[in-house]
Amino acid sequence: MSECYIGRLPCGCVVAATVIDGQDFRQLAKDVSQFIQEGLTIERVSSEYVKEHLRSCIHQSKELEDDTNRS
Ligand SMILES: [Zn+2]
Repeated sequence: MSECYIGRLPCGCVVAATVIDGQDFRQLAKDVSQFIQEGLTIERVSSEYVKEHLRSCIHQSKELEDDTNRS
């Protein structure tokens, strides 16, 4: 099973991932530094974890909906 680095938002959503195995080290370092610049927490996980958890953050749009529904 291959491993990846993921970028996790403070809310817990995994919004970025880059494969470790077989990737050029400089490209990998570039991806990871970009994740850090975006304020993401870097974690090393399996590619299976990435398949299950990688998605867009649902919390920002949900907050907007809550604001709209509030009266
Ligand atoms: Zn989120």
